[in-house]
Amino acid sequence: MADARPTLLTLDEVLQRVLAVAQDRLIAETEKVDTFDALGRVLARPVRSALDVPPADNTSMDGYAMRAADVPAAGQVLAVSQRIPAGVVGQPLQPGTAARIFTGAQVPAGADAVVMQELCEALPGEGLGQVRVGTVLVAGQWIRRRGEDVQHDAEVLLPGARMTPQALGLAASVGASRLTVRRRPRVALFSTGDELVMPGESLKPGAIYNSNRFTLRGLLQAAGCEVQDLGIVPDRLDATRDALQRAAVGNDLILTSGGVSVGEEDHLKPAVKAEGWLEDWQVLMKPGKPLAFGAVRRGDGETEALFMGLPGNPVSSFVTFLLLVAPVLRALQGCAQAVPPAVQVRADFDLPRPDKRREFLRARFNAAGGVELFPNQSSGVLTSAVWADGLVDNPGQQVIARGDTVRLLLLSSLIGA
Ligand code: AMP
Ligand code: MG
Repeated sequence: MADARPTLLTLDEVLQRVLAVAQDRLIAETEKVDTFDALGRVLARPVRSALDVPPADNTSMDGYAMRAADVPAAGQVLAVSQRIPAGVVGQPLQPGTAARIFTGAQVPAGADAVVMQELCEALPGEGLGQVRVGTVLVAGQWIRRRGEDVQHDAEVLLPGARMTPQALGLAASVGASRLTVRRRPRVALFSTGDELVMPGESLKPGAIYNSNRFTLRGLLQAAGCEVQDLGIVPDRLDATRDALQRAAVGNDLILTSGGVSVGEEDHLKPAVKAEGWLEDWQVLMKPGKPLAFGAVRRGDGETEALFMGLPGNPVSSFVTFLLLVAPVLRALQGCAQAVPPAVQVRADFDLPRPDKRREFLRARFNAAGGVELFPNQSSGVLTSAVWADGLVDNPGQQVIARGDTVRLLLLSSLIGA
């Protein structure tokens, strides 16, 4: 069966195509989860604040609350009329006096400034004693205003927001104990390749350890997915078709590594064609040219699971996951931003012989604030992906000279959120 040559598409064309399909399959099911357990989830409903944060003016310092008008000059002495720890609401401030106050405590009515204790001197006296104010006052100083963080009724988090640790904190700060999020994407994962064995098994001649299973499973978990791991599937058409059928049940996406080139041992593409549909293109990118996209019909004959087949080379599967699968997973979950932005950085390296294709080079920041390349950019060298802070995104045929500005995709923004 001689197939026509696949169409060559740019990464942007492929991204547009796969995102359009994924957006059509936005996961409709939502669930309510405790904010406490919502790390990494994507909001389906906004978080609205029913209060001002902070709820009242409060002091940002340990010190003394007073009226600015009562302190015309530095050195003024005032009687201390009350003591207000955090969590206690004081009395209205008597004119001409100061209130001893501690960080986070509400500023008493009548006071319009706080002076930090380091600028005051406590003096003995009746009752709570006196304080000498060693500074001139500016009304409002060291006071955190009611509502300066969040105002009543504000939507502090919008649908599509990923619940980062700081987003969890913000939701909690407005009192949200439960959140409405989208169901996690369900992804089936398997590796192809008769040469693969698992760490812990003996490495017979010709075998290699299955690293992609670990990298891809970790990437899926970091992206908030439920992973069904189907292990290693033999390089045979019947076994591959069988694995696809099993993987389609109950999953939104089937992700595989290896077996998508044009070799006789590469059975994934024919298997997907037999079990569903497959788009016949290749991506003009390095690493990662062989990549398959399609869908596998479920047993019911009516619904299907998306299919993405990544190349077997460990760096190729890592990079293609970050650039194509991660955006699809974000789109399935309704994330506000499917593709994270790049940053502009200074190249502290030369690339005199760029590839014809758009290249993603493993790069790392140096102490001088520029980026350097890992010396071996081969798609089998996984060390480069661990060493790197990011991928230099170089358009095809673009020579890079030391000092040039280049685009860098940070691994920290590509992985997960
Ligand atoms: P393939 O895409 O199946 O032709 O594989 C390309 C290269 O990647 C070959 O050298 C494979 O041995 C290697 N490879 C494929 N799958 C994996 C895997 N799961 N872990 C590590 N290397 C792999
Ligand atoms: Mg193979």
